[in-house]
Amino acid sequence: MKKQRNSKQRQIILDAVMTRCDHPTADQIYLDARAKYDKISRGTVYRNLGVLAESGEIMNVKVAAADRYDSRLDRHYHLLCTRCGKVFDAPLPYHAEYDDAVARETGFRISRHLLVFEGLCPACSRKNEDESDEPT
Ligand SMILES: [Zn+2]
Ligand SMILES: [Zn+2]
Repeated sequence: MKKQRNSKQRQIILDAVMTRCDHPTADQIYLDARAKYDKISRGTVYRNLGVLAESGEIMNVKVAAADRYDSRLDRHYHLLCTRCGKVFDAPLPYHAEYDDAVARETGFRISRHLLVFEGLCPACSRKNEDESDEPT
């Protein structure tokens, strides 16, 4: 990994993530970071969030990313290829008992839960072995 020149900016970004516990979006982090340091750019924040997530200092959680539409109407889970972006149905039964358990504990009226498995699809993992290049 490249040596980071803007470690001060990265620290501001990291602090902005650490002082919140509401799963902020990159834009929310950007606004917090800019309040501390008004020269920071959106691109710097996005890039550093990616670096921090990759190095394991923060975690990237995808919650309801892009809307997708499915002709299959029964509850089921999905697999997302992080390289080509294709979405597949996961061969697992829907666990309705999770909805009940979380509803009991939180008082939420749960309508459903989503579960997405991330990784490389067979085609992309074959390509990965051929090229053995680094995912971007
Ligand atoms: Zn793929
Ligand atoms: Zn599906």
